[in-house]
Amino acid sequence: MINIVILGSTGSIGLQALQVIDQHSDRFQVVGLAARDEINLLAVQAEQYKPKAIAVGDNDAYPALKKLISDKIELLSGLEGLSAIAAWPEADIVLVAVSGAIGIMPTMAAIKAQKRIALANKETLVTAGNFVMKEIKKNSITLIPVDSEHSAIFQCLQGENDNLHKIWLTASGGPFRDFSEQQLENVSIEMALCHPNSSMGPKITIDSATLMNKGLEVIEAHHLFGVGYTDIGVLVHRQSIVHSMVELVDGAFLAHLGAADMRIPIQYAFTYPQRIPSAAQQLDFTKLAALEFQAPDVKRFPALELAYAAGRTGGTMPAVLNAANEIAVQYFLGGKIGFNIIPRLVEQVMNRHDTISEPGLEEILSVDKWARIMTEDIINRGGIS
Ligand code: MG
Repeated sequence: MINIVILGSTGSIGLQALQVIDQHSDRFQVVGLAARDEINLLAVQAEQYKPKAIAVGDNDAYPALKKLISDKIELLSGLEGLSAIAAWPEADIVLVAVSGAIGIMPTMAAIKAQKRIALANKETLVTAGNFVMKEIKKNSITLIPVDSEHSAIFQCLQGENDNLHKIWLTASGGPFRDFSEQQLENVSIEMALCHPNSSMGPKITIDSATLMNKGLEVIEAHHLFGVGYTDIGVLVHRQSIVHSMVELVDGAFLAHLGAADMRIPIQYAFTYPQRIPSAAQQLDFTKLAALEFQAPDVKRFPALELAYAAGRTGGTMPAVLNAANEIAVQYFLGGKIGFNIIPRLVEQVMNRHDTISEPGLEEILSVDKWARIMTEDIINRGGIS
């Protein structure tokens, strides 16, 4: 039996991971679950999976959850609770599927505890990529990306690591890929939360619509695969059939194709290097009319270029990009700012930051905090230009 901890068990990735575990209950069992504050669903999951421990990120949610779950389950809370679950002694694999930079500390805890990590939280590598990857190498940790693009690249690179020339990340383009600049100004929250090819949490859905998601993935790919930014390209591919590609030194391309079903990369992260049958739908090539690829329009979707710029600057700048974006998305979802303000805010906060070139974790976390405060400050002063 392989013991699995899921951080973010009530989110989209967490729920699909539980489906994978259900389908292969002869192989996998849940030893730990964690979520931010969705206590009712956590209680249902506790009843069904009977984990050894549960952590709720929001300390205030602890008393109410305590009443809902069995005394046999250890209940933890806060960032410390998430980190304790991530380092749980019986855990073999830790799936980090929480959303946002909150994923950094639990990921570090899993690294120190020598766990295999299935990483579905992109903010960890975007914010603290150099630092985290150094720790991964130092501790000889197996880190398997769960994000469909990085899982695709990871799979294409099996046995080809030394032959990599360029990475091609594909992007659906989001729900507004065909919108004019003027139409983008009038995008509502409801419109933005409707993604054409998948159903994901609200943060990543908005990031997909701005193309910031792809920008974060570019930075993540840089860290995961050790590739420079000029050798990471992005293609808009509206069918979402090609999940990403690698271009090798001899001019050959390897692409990963399949149904757009996150259970495939989640399961692969659990079984790597093995493969077992999955519940995902089979792809019928005779029903595909065409596979199209386009260059992204960086004028209409400036977030992608901001991410490249932050990545190239390096140091603490990607942490600023990420933190400003998290706050901007939060304010957009709260109806406080317009959709097209999101990248403008991020750019303004980046412009105010003096990059620290080789930051430690403390510095990264304090810059992250600074960027959040600065973003809110600009919004509250009405200073968006
Ligand atoms: Mg992705």
